[in-house]
Amino acid sequence: MSTYRFVCPVCEQEIEVNTSMREAILESGCPVCTAGVDAAHFEPA
Ligand SMILES: [Zn+2]
Repeated sequence: MSTYRFVCPVCEQEIEVNTSMREAILESGCPVCTAGVDAAHFEPA
């Protein structure tokens, strides 16, 4: 399963996520501050 590094544009939290977590964050926003994010905020780790 692919791993990505998510960096929130608002709270700047960095989180290692897998594919399903990435999908959840794209739908629901940052798990820390709930800011809306898009695919640009993920990079392969
Ligand atoms: Zn955040």
